[in-house]
Amino acid sequence: MSYPVTLIPGDGIGAEVTAAMRRVVDATGVPIDWEVQEAGEAVIAQYGTPLPDHVLDSIRRNRVGIKGPVTTPIGTGFRSVNVSLRKALDLYANLRPARTMPGVASRYEDIDLVIVRENTECLYAGIEHDVIPDVAAESIRIITRRATERIVRFAFEYARANGRKLVTAVHKANILKATDGLFLRVAQEVAAQYPDIAFSDRIIDNACMQLVQRPHEYDVLVLPNLYGDIVSDLCSGLVGGLGVSPGANLGDGIAVFEPVHGSAPKYAGQNRVNPTATILSGALMLKYIGEREAGQRVEDAVARVIREGKYVTYDLKPRRDDPTAVGTQEMADAIIAAL
Ligand code: NAD
Repeated sequence: MSYPVTLIPGDGIGAEVTAAMRRVVDATGVPIDWEVQEAGEAVIAQYGTPLPDHVLDSIRRNRVGIKGPVTTPIGTGFRSVNVSLRKALDLYANLRPARTMPGVASRYEDIDLVIVRENTECLYAGIEHDVIPDVAAESIRIITRRATERIVRFAFEYARANGRKLVTAVHKANILKATDGLFLRVAQEVAAQYPDIAFSDRIIDNACMQLVQRPHEYDVLVLPNLYGDIVSDLCSGLVGGLGVSPGANLGDGIAVFEPVHGSAPKYAGQNRVNPTATILSGALMLKYIGEREAGQRVEDAVARVIREGKYVTYDLKPRRDDPTAVGTQEMADAIIAAL
């Protein structure tokens, strides 16, 4: 029996990093039946949309997907495929671990943070309009009790299942009294139902400063959508950058895995970028489908290749112009050899 998994290569560097991930996952011996589905800019001419229904149907059928990054036009153009996909499949929790890996240069050691980002509302609801074109515009930020309750509950359940000690809710409730006020109030209510896990809250600006200065004081962070996106990139920066940061979008009985990073168009087609974030997303996927041991083997193999520091991409070398840096596929080869 093989596991059916929808694979969306995505745009820019997506094809390269997902190809590397696929080879590594296949090398574990776990039989995956990859159902490749294209989404993004390239399919608009053919289907009239960057996210055709058959792509969503494939994930709904398989219950598991993994994707590369998809480009979103800045300032104009179509709505983000990523946002539409998370919303359409109700993938309400975006889990982004940020953990130090020996061999990756960063300012800190032993960082082990988990970002739990609400994935369906906030400013990503996409309710925006011009009030007077080119003069004033308006965005509406949605925060609901239902979505807040389930994301905070998710954070506490995750903490409990993974031996975590502290959940911190991050907000701006001093200024956004209605929206973030509701988020904080509901977080406090849910926290009261988990007396075994400590709870704290921080105003977002202070949280950013403290994460940079004293990251070890944090454990699991739960945030509304936009703050979660920004703070998870900040935490990626604490552990060596976007090249090593995996992610998961989780709903009830359905999941789509993807790296935190975007499509990095300037590196597309060069076999240059780091495949680690997508390969570690593949490891999270293996664990999710019940292949925990295989997922752990992938994580160990990645850790070993990075620790040895020889067959790694430019971003993991002490100097970015290091001529001994290897390409995306060569790093994947080394990870497969380490498996
Ligand atoms: P980006 O993550 O694509 O790139 C930012 C920088 O991070 C790059 O210039 C590069 O230096 C570094 N980087 C990213 N991935 C790397 C890797 N694997 N290895 C080494 N270095 C890496 O962010 P951006 O430039 O802000 O966005 C580009 C596009 O990606 C935009 O269209 C944006 O909407 C999209 N995006 C998509 C997703 C997603 O699909 N989930 C997430 C973020 C951004």
